Amino acid sequence: MGQIHILSDQVANQIAAGEVVDRPASVVKELLENSLDAGASRIRVEVEGGGRRLIRVTDDGQGMNRDDALLAFERHATSKLHSAADLLSISTLGFRGEALPSIASVARVTLETATGALLSHPFGDEAAERMGHPASAGTHIEIAGGKILRVEDAALPRGTTLAVSDLFFNTPARRKFLRAEATELAHVTALVTHYALAHPEKHFELVSATHTIVSAPPVARTAERIYQIFGKDTLGQLLPVAAETPLERAGLPEPPPWKKDPDAPARPPGSLRLTGFYSKPELQKLNRNSIYIFVNKRLIRDRLLLHAITEAYRNVIPPTSFPVVLLFLAMPPEEVDVNVHPAKTEVRFRQQSLVHDFVRDALRTALVAARPAAGFLAALDSQPLASPSLMPPGTSSIPGPPGADAFNAILPPGRATPFPEPDSDPIATASFASSAEPFRLTPAAPPSVPGNLPFDSRALAETSQWGAPTSARQSGIDALLPPLAAQNFESCGSLPNASGDRRADSAATALVEAEQAAATLNHLGLLKPLGQLRESFILAVGDDGLWIIDQHVAHERVLFEKILRDRQVEQIQRQRLLMPLLVELKPDQMVVFARIVAELESNGFEVEPFGPQTLAVKAAPVGLEGVELERMLAEVIDQSADEAEEPVRNEELTRLRTRIAASIACHSAIKVNTALDPKRIEWLLLELAKTSHPTSCPHGRPIALLYSWKDIQRAFHRI
Ligand code: ADP
Ligand code: MG
Repeated sequence: MGQIHILSDQVANQIAAGEVVDRPASVVKELLENSLDAGASRIRVEVEGGGRRLIRVTDDGQGMNRDDALLAFERHATSKLHSAADLLSISTLGFRGEALPSIASVARVTLETATGALLSHPFGDEAAERMGHPASAGTHIEIAGGKILRVEDAALPRGTTLAVSDLFFNTPARRKFLRAEATELAHVTALVTHYALAHPEKHFELVSATHTIVSAPPVARTAERIYQIFGKDTLGQLLPVAAETPLERAGLPEPPPWKKDPDAPARPPGSLRLTGFYSKPELQKLNRNSIYIFVNKRLIRDRLLLHAITEAYRNVIPPTSFPVVLLFLAMPPEEVDVNVHPAKTEVRFRQQSLVHDFVRDALRTALVAARPAAGFLAALDSQPLASPSLMPPGTSSIPGPPGADAFNAILPPGRATPFPEPDSDPIATASFASSAEPFRLTPAAPPSVPGNLPFDSRALAETSQWGAPTSARQSGIDALLPPLAAQNFESCGSLPNASGDRRADSAATALVEAEQAAATLNHLGLLKPLGQLRESFILAVGDDGLWIIDQHVAHERVLFEKILRDRQVEQIQRQRLLMPLLVELKPDQMVVFARIVAELESNGFEVEPFGPQTLAVKAAPVGLEGVELERMLAEVIDQSADEAEEPVRNEELTRLRTRIAASIACHSAIKVNTALDPKRIEWLLLELAKTSHPTSCPHGRPIALLYSWKDIQRAFHRI
């Protein structure tokens, strides 16, 4: 007799369950997805014992008739997919037909479902409806460990209730892997929260045996949902983003001509659409747990998009920090393969780089356009937080590891990275300050037109300190910001059905939005400088309050963007040194140097080998001298040491360029502990206002903080 046999359905289901359900949160995920696919508008999730004892999901969706209800627990039974061709364009959250049989094989399950077909009423259907008789013909099924125990008819309202109790009761090995009740509850909460965010128009509830954790009645806009779930403070730190770009072609290859239906009209390839929220640079997190990505309303985990987000924030927040981002990407279902992972948490885009660049550019553009001002008080505690993620207030006290995200088990844990040290030691560098100042010109004040954005680059083209024509400046900024094809910005996430008692929510979100709109850096150039604080920070006043500006990082940002601009048009200003500067390098540093020398030369350096371990620097970018020059070279060489190869790809080259520009800027910028005369202060503010990211220095530290008029009044108990 042969050795091979076919596994029983029960064993096969348990194996599948290993991939689909590994903890209560994954059961909740599958049940929520089923309810959403069933068109539910109200979904209630009850959990006991962190979901280990009981998970009950009740929806008001389309329900199932008796036959379907029984079939739903068969392996590969689904109403969402018919043929392999359907796999190419999946528009439902589920499609594998695996969830219910898998769950039923490792738990005790009770299903109650009804389609809303009314029970025959003695006075007829209409009368039944008029009398608000909710009961209809329904089905009650009980299953344990994959075995059907009971099937009977029942009078039930339209919709489905699925109760899953004693998860893993028959697989003790799996049960052991479950974590503390509070941890499992945190995962469930994160999951319900995520789906609630993606569907503001639906009513979500999450209740435990003792209290309500999430209660989110329908609202019109995502902003209101964020307010409902996370509160005013979080919403206040987020800004909306919306972008759309038409696809030039479809991601799937055209079928061959003989397979094409000649009568079928050619379908346009559709478009990529993004809405969502992103954090101001001052809000920084130590891990990715606060980045939520939804593709066609499906919560996913995707390296490509994480990379795009990190790229958008490059040189705006420190490389070790992460922003808070809620992204909702919508695209034709053919553009994304969701059949990549059994738990459907990963996808593959058919046009990967297009999607990546679209997300990066949309976020970048939004960041540049918003130029949000950091509040003084907010910046005080803006050290990157290791907080688990955005969690509803009610659950923040849950003990256990910070793994509040459903994906935590998979994502690398957040490292406790300290906030980067200031990149120059004020005391050590103060003595070089006067020799390193690159100021020469003082610009005429621009015509300030009240109500106009003062720093429209066109308005200032003639008065530019650097004499760079507008086009050069624009293309310089483009180096930071690749052009975004055909973008339509529009109001974010608006859905048409606002009504009734949501007015309070709308008022609160409107208030937050108004505050967000007020505090931008667009007015920097119109501020009235008062002077310096300890010769290090510039104090200035404007209508919106008192500004404190870090002179070193402000100048650093100005220089950084100028260097990138000049580099792009190959107009770096260099200066010959009177005496060549000799720099000693270790052999491994020499190797790195050889790799980056060409790019250094394009940045104004003229460097020649002078013996086996010594370099002679003959010329350097204007403003970079002496010890600072030596430090800058050492810094760039060290920072480039990790990259193994010569920069060949565009991305590597851009990284190197950015690194060099940031380093030159840092080492030639005005230092702290340097007296500045009023004209210079004025000039610095004007130049800063013209940059695309006046918010933070290339290393991510804040530049200008606003002590808002409102905060001042509050602090003096005037309001
Ligand atoms: P899938 O969602 O991949 O189709 P499932 O095992 O999750 O597979 O569900 C099997 C089928 O049961 C679904 O295709 C759907 O027709 C039905 N079903 C499951 N849950 C619900 C629900 N809450 N409301 C209505 N129908 C449901
Ligand atoms: Mg499903």
